[in-house]
Amino acid sequence: MVAKTKAKPAAKKAQRSLHQTAVDQFHRAADLVGLPEPHRSILSHPKNEVIVNFPVQLDDGRWEVFRGFRIQHNNIIGPYKGGLRFHPDVDLDEVKALAAWMTFKCALAGIPFGGAKGGVTINPRDYSDSEMERIVRRFTHALGANIGPEHDIPAPDVGTNAMMMDWIMDTYTNLSGPGSRQTVKGVVTGKSLACGGSLGRNAATGQGVLYSLRHWCGEVGERLDSLSISVQGFGNVGAHFSRLAYKDGCTIKVVGDHTGTIRNDDGIDIEELGPWVADNGGVDGFPGARAVDAEELFSTDVDVFVPAALENQITLERARTMTCRLIVEAANGPTTPEAEELLTEQGVAIVPDILANAGGVIVSYFEWLQNKSSSYWSEEEVDRRLRTLVWDAHDAVVVTKKSLNCTRREAAYAVALERLADVYDRRGIFP
Ligand code: GLU
Repeated sequence: MVAKTKAKPAAKKAQRSLHQTAVDQFHRAADLVGLPEPHRSILSHPKNEVIVNFPVQLDDGRWEVFRGFRIQHNNIIGPYKGGLRFHPDVDLDEVKALAAWMTFKCALAGIPFGGAKGGVTINPRDYSDSEMERIVRRFTHALGANIGPEHDIPAPDVGTNAMMMDWIMDTYTNLSGPGSRQTVKGVVTGKSLACGGSLGRNAATGQGVLYSLRHWCGEVGERLDSLSISVQGFGNVGAHFSRLAYKDGCTIKVVGDHTGTIRNDDGIDIEELGPWVADNGGVDGFPGARAVDAEELFSTDVDVFVPAALENQITLERARTMTCRLIVEAANGPTTPEAEELLTEQGVAIVPDILANAGGVIVSYFEWLQNKSSSYWSEEEVDRRLRTLVWDAHDAVVVTKKSLNCTRREAAYAVALERLADVYDRRGIFP
């Protein structure tokens, strides 16, 4: 039996700034489309950086002060939009990068939102539910008027979920006047169905990743059910993607999460893995596969690699061991620039994060629309509209990739930047 090692943490503090990576990606695409000033300077900085330090009483009576962030990158197309991440590695640099990616993601998806991201530096596993409720509500209170249904709309991200979004909505609603109680539900998306969430929102990011994979199959003439896949991460995105891909006949060979890495070359039964993870907190020990070294996640011979965890996971060192033909970035920023250069040279196609994982924010937009009209759509309606928007974005990227003769990531940025520049040109910059 192979000794189990946990996936190495991204060691991100030692790596270069994630925000610098995001800005470099932006400038490369800005050069390609000849983005003029001042658009270039404006879009390479966030508009607002909100940092709050707020005290919360723990179950044992002690008080702890938490640090929370909300970075509002851009709102020229619509209200700031983006998730809230609760993770020990959350810092200003990371949230700034994630906020910028949201601006480009929403512009590329063709939805009327800008970009933002927030979070709290915390390990949610260390706190009880009641502590977490107090932390979320106090954070919402601290953000105050910095969020709002027509201003800045948070959503779930790594370490946050529908229950937390319900608490944010409830806190915000109670802080609003009685006359607006019903109209402020859309202050946050990714809520539970009972509290005004949308059908399909929970699975939306994973569903969008699968639609992205389907689009690539159509483009290059591959059969979806002939593909073997490695998935990094079995949280909301990785688990829903794996379930849907498995249902469509894909062979999921390797799955890794924070508890371990498991492999079965005949295909892991994802319908059995889901309940196992729900009961055991992770993939480790799943009887339908064998435990392997964490690095096998990258080096196993598969057609497709789906990173669905954190940023900077596909490093140059790991890229050297990878043999896949396609990477579909379900996570934000999972591939380092050096790794991307090598993989591109080797002919590996990369469906970039702002395209591959846009399903979440697209269905957030649907939820926001449903909250505004107080009328709700069927799951089929949500999925149909989601697929249309994801495929339209892919179509635009494929056309631009050909015309600019560039990578898929550069093309995705180019499409987004042209849309943003068009709005700036029409509106002008005031005052
Ligand atoms: N956190 C998700 C993302 O990175 C969803 C954001 C949202 O729905 O606003 O795209």
